[in-house]
Amino acid sequence: MSQRKPIYVTQPDMPPLDQFYPYLEQIWENRMLTNGGPFHQQLEEELCRYLGVEHICLFANGTLALLTALQALRVTGEVITTPYSFVATSHSLLWNGIKPVFVDVDPDTLNLDPARIEAAITPQTTAIMPVHCYGKPCDTRAIAAIADNYNLKVIYDAAHAFGVRHEGASVLNSGDLSVLSFHATKVFNTFEGGAIVCGDARTKQRIDRLKNFGIVDETTVVAPGINGKMSEINAAFGLLQLKGVDAAIAARARLARTYTEALADVPGIRCVRPWQEGASDPLLRESNYSYFPILVGPDYPLGRDALFARLKEHDIVARRYFYPLISSFPMYRDLPSASPDRLPVAARAAEQVLCLPIYPALDDSDQHRIIDLVEGSA
Ligand SMILES: *Cc1c(COP(=O)(O)O)cnc(C)c1O
Repeated sequence: MSQRKPIYVTQPDMPPLDQFYPYLEQIWENRMLTNGGPFHQQLEEELCRYLGVEHICLFANGTLALLTALQALRVTGEVITTPYSFVATSHSLLWNGIKPVFVDVDPDTLNLDPARIEAAITPQTTAIMPVHCYGKPCDTRAIAAIADNYNLKVIYDAAHAFGVRHEGASVLNSGDLSVLSFHATKVFNTFEGGAIVCGDARTKQRIDRLKNFGIVDETTVVAPGINGKMSEINAAFGLLQLKGVDAAIAARARLARTYTEALADVPGIRCVRPWQEGASDPLLRESNYSYFPILVGPDYPLGRDALFARLKEHDIVARRYFYPLISSFPMYRDLPSASPDRLPVAARAAEQVLCLPIYPALDDSDQHRIIDLVEGSA
């Protein structure tokens, strides 16, 4: 067997270390390590500009941002959400004492299917929490129409959707709030980190208080807040990362195109393609190419798990995002909405999906090795 290092599904994009030293020196000079220091403020400003959003509140991670988003909008009762996501989506509901109500996904996009939302609304429903899965924008118009009709809040888990544009604007402007993750595995990372995007200054102020224990000033505490603040080290790394993010996304787009073309005619393999048909300019940003999911169908000579194992034998560590479904974990599976026969599309996707390695440093020969293995010609 080869002595090569394993190829993982992703690898963080790291700027040269010497470029980070000046930021560290600045922090040592400032003696301001956290609590909304200068790098924190600068990263908020630069992200607003880069993403094309009005306000952003930085967090220590995306999960704290999800928890706080629900608190900020005072969401209670039941929330309609997708079972086809990372567990943090639903966990944020349970941590707020909210009952998740799972609704099946659309077979093409693997996002929450708007046509199925209405039937799941009850008098207890107060919000919808969809996910832009793999960065593919949800049907935001249909979701907004339902939310308006039933007076529901919409919080997008946009952890995959950094920099994604939809109908000419940032997808992060959809809904009441959008939540980002800057975890090491994401397209843009601050080691750990996250953010809430919001449209007005009052909401930003409320979120900023909630992420700092609910403190207003030395003697005033207005809410049972949490500690969700991003540190200066993380914010500084984000500023450095932001300089390279366009190049990183362009490199991912090229890899995505190569995979798509090479795998188009492999019987039984369907590329999910989390971007629009015919979108060729990576900087138009219908996608950030953060994942390359394929569905391994019954016409493929191997089952999904056998292909997963075959790649692993060759030191290629693909990931089954999202398997198992959130709704099948023990803290969810007894909910009436979690029954697999009510979620057939999500259940099938979870059985068939495999995310292939994609990251800027993935070189052509390694990508071709992966393609040959999927084609069955290696
Ligand atoms: C990564 C991720 C999160 C959690 O973000 P953290 O920053 O790791 O806390 C939430 N939802 C989805 C869909 C994610 O992929």
